[in-house]
Amino acid sequence: MEKQKQKVGISGISGRMGRLVAETIRGASEFHLAGGWNRTGRSHLPGVPVFSTPDELLVVSDVVVDFSQPEASQRLLKALLEQPKPLVCGTTALSDDTQGLLDRLALEQPVIYDTNFSVGIAVLNQLLRQACRLLGPGFDVEIVETHHRRKKDAPSGTAVRLAQTLAQQCSTNESEIPVQIGRQGTNLTRQNEVVIHALRGGSITGEHTVYFLGEHEVLCLEHRALDRNLFVDGVLRALRWISGQGPGRFSMEHVLQLKP
Ligand code: NAD
Repeated sequence: MEKQKQKVGISGISGRMGRLVAETIRGASEFHLAGGWNRTGRSHLPGVPVFSTPDELLVVSDVVVDFSQPEASQRLLKALLEQPKPLVCGTTALSDDTQGLLDRLALEQPVIYDTNFSVGIAVLNQLLRQACRLLGPGFDVEIVETHHRRKKDAPSGTAVRLAQTLAQQCSTNESEIPVQIGRQGTNLTRQNEVVIHALRGGSITGEHTVYFLGEHEVLCLEHRALDRNLFVDGVLRALRWISGQGPGRFSMEHVLQLKP
């Protein structure tokens, strides 16, 4: 008997990411593109229904993918708590309240949330833990991230996540390392902090460089996203993985089995 296709609904279907995910789902044999939700309710894909509320999308979907904007994600999550479905969410700059809604949904359904669906960033996150451990104290850490001029949030969710990994890994029992955004002022003295710098311009998909700056040597670890399809590959992996999962909150590190 033929395996039932997973019906995938896309929140933010008319955006840069939503369009790419929708086109890929349409071409994938194991999935059916059930429809989308966006601000206008207008469809750009012939034969694919696009709704103007998340509730309507949930009725036709087995699983939902969200690449929208924070206020839309919040609305979607409120609807998902009424009609629980598995969720793959990549929208960045979510508020603490919205993160709390993700946690609540994860009590009933599998939820994969990640600020970066690339395999390379998940591996970089692991390498940072190793670098902190192996280099030991005596290295200052700075992150530089560069994105296209249309990106709405800064710093990137990915840079914040990498900084949090570094802060946790490099912290000692006595002191938690703070994460700081940018640097400005006079009479500055560098403390033990992780600093993120954000560059915006042109069409760069996304670059993250982590600098470990020592007295006598510098180690740089860099990731470059060459085009948005790398995120779509990650979303497909996440969709295949989520169908076998019970409730819980997961990230790409779980999908890629980099984390138990
Ligand atoms: P975009 O602005 O091109 O698209 C946003 C989509 O959300 C559009 O379809 C728009 O109609 C919809 N939307 C916005 N506000 C809405 C509202 N109030 N109600 C209903 N729909 C609404 O954005 P994008 O470049 O596609 O990025 C979307 C999100 O994904 C951003 O948060 C971005 O940072 C993030 N992103 C994440 C990854 C990752 O790997 N996790 C990769 C790329 C982008």
